[in-house]
Parts: sequence; structure tokens; C-alpha cells
Amino acid sequence: MALPAIHIERSTSGHPMTVSGRFRKRPTEVAATRWWANGDHADDSVGEEAVDPATGQVYLRVEGAVVRFFCDPDAPATNSCAHCGYTMHDHGWIDTLEGGHIVCPGDWIVTGVKNERYPVKPDIFAITYESVGE
Ligand SMILES: [Zn+2]
Repeated sequence: MALPAIHIERSTSGHPMTVSGRFRKRPTEVAATRWWANGDHADDSVGEEAVDPATGQVYLRVEGAVVRFFCDPDAPATNSCAHCGYTMHDHGWIDTLEGGHIVCPGDWIVTGVKNERYPVKPDIFAITYESVGE
């Protein structure tokens, strides 16, 4: 995959110039869904028809398309989560740009400016975001 073009300020010797200072995030709106259980995300499509890419066969989706079932053989479903206390069975799993990530019940699923999705803990979400309506 080609890297995006990035403008780099260079010194007269050609080395990239170091830039530092104070920055503020630009205000952007994101879509977010608070997730509690399989199927909660609007794009999970649970109960809808889907096509198995391996076989081409149509099936009824039981696992969320965005937040999938939590499945980790090293974390049995009956274990309690160190973050939230719910059993691992109550958790989900989401593919992010940085790889797979656990989703605790109550986490927010944010759809970012490039349509990437990632979970955000409720306390961080409350500090970082405010509602702008539907
Ligand atoms: Zn948890």
C-alpha cells in the first residue's frame, strides 16, 4: 500500500525540520454508538442475510459485523474482565487500524474521520466528546 503524501519541512541541509509547540485538536464530528451487547451497533446487521466470502453461501448473521464475538482461548468466557468486571462472554471484539481490540460492555464505538472504527472507554468518551444531536 502506498504511503500518503506528507509535506515535510526541510532545513537547508535537507534534513526534516523538527517542529514542536502546543496544538489543539480541530473540532470534528464523529459517529458513535454505545455498545452493550452483540448486535447493538447499527451496522452489525445481526439477523440479516450475509454472504460467506469463503464459500459464497448466504447465511443469517448471528455475530455483529462491526463488533464481533469476543473469542480468545487464553481468556475463558467465564473469566471476569480486569477493566469492567463483566465476564468475557459479555464482551465483543472489533478490528481497528491497529489490529483487533476488545470491547467492554458500555464502551463507545467511534467511527472516525476516515470511517475507521475503534472503541473508547466511557470516561475518556465523556471527556473528549459532547453530543451534537442525531
Ligand atoms: Zn471489560
